[in-house]
Amino acid sequence: MSIFKAKRLTLITIVYWFLLSYVIVALVFWFISLQQQNENITSLRLQQLNPRHPTYTRDAEKIYDGKRRKTGQYIGEGATFLGLIIISAVFIYRATRRQFNLSSQQQNFMMAVTHELKTPIAVTRLNLETLQKRKLEEQQQQKLISNTLQEVERLNSLCNNILLASQLETGSYKISKKEVDASALAERVVGEFKMRNPHRKFVSNIQKELFITGEELLLEILMTNLIENALKYSPRETAVTITLESRKDNIKFSVADEGPGIPDEEKSRIFEKFYRVGNEETRTAKGTGLGLYLCKKIAGDHNAEVRVHNNVKGSVFIVIFKT
Ligand code: ADP
Repeated sequence: MSIFKAKRLTLITIVYWFLLSYVIVALVFWFISLQQQNENITSLRLQQLNPRHPTYTRDAEKIYDGKRRKTGQYIGEGATFLGLIIISAVFIYRATRRQFNLSSQQQNFMMAVTHELKTPIAVTRLNLETLQKRKLEEQQQQKLISNTLQEVERLNSLCNNILLASQLETGSYKISKKEVDASALAERVVGEFKMRNPHRKFVSNIQKELFITGEELLLEILMTNLIENALKYSPRETAVTITLESRKDNIKFSVADEGPGIPDEEKSRIFEKFYRVGNEETRTAKGTGLGLYLCKKIAGDHNAEVRVHNNVKGSVFIVIFKT
């Protein structure tokens, strides 16, 4: 959050607490003055009674009854008001905070997206210019081309994520479900990752012939995002383990890595839109904070649930498809 924004948030918070305290103090003051009025009216009415009159005790009792009723009414009304004020205050406070967090995350997202778009474009341009201007050996040419293809692939998956997130959000994406061979899909996705990352170690335990009712493209994005994160957030020399297996009444897909893991307090937040652990200035891994948000959305659309647990070292993301 920028200093300007932080200052504004502090100012708004101070004004908010001041107004809230003022309203509550005014309410208490209102109660005390009404109660005093009640006392005064009661004593005035008592003074008007004649103590020698035979109905004095009954009349006085009536006056006290009236006083008690009024006190009850003030307490009831005051408590209802106070309750409503506190409920609305909590509601407004949480909504404003959420709005502030979202807008600062959106700003981070814009920074990240700009960076994410510019880097592959710059690398691709440089590679193509090199290929155009210089006569390179076949091997060097192939290296440049495969590097360029990787950058284009990154751009492609970034665009897919952004487009899909907005389409799923507005409901303009129509999911067409059918029986998908999840085993074949997982094999293909892992195969592509192996090809693009020959230096990384993959362990895959993919059970054969497991079928899920859903949309292949979305399931592919779900698997791709989880594997991409595992690669991105773990050291090069560690393994990424992908598992697809059938259990009693569900199918489990999981991706485990041996990276730094995710602190417990961040475990639920990482699925929020644009959320990234740490802050944009210190973060080195590329990303937009959309990947896991999409995974959660896709899982939700497929009668599935996505969770994150601690691995022995690192983390393991698990998707449970209920069958
Ligand atoms: P992005 O990777 O584009 O930042 P994601 O939504 O995929 O966005 O992930 C949100 C955040 O969760 C990441 O910024 C990262 O801090 C954390 N995260 C996701 N996957 C892992 C993982 N396998 N290991 C450690 N941290 C992770």
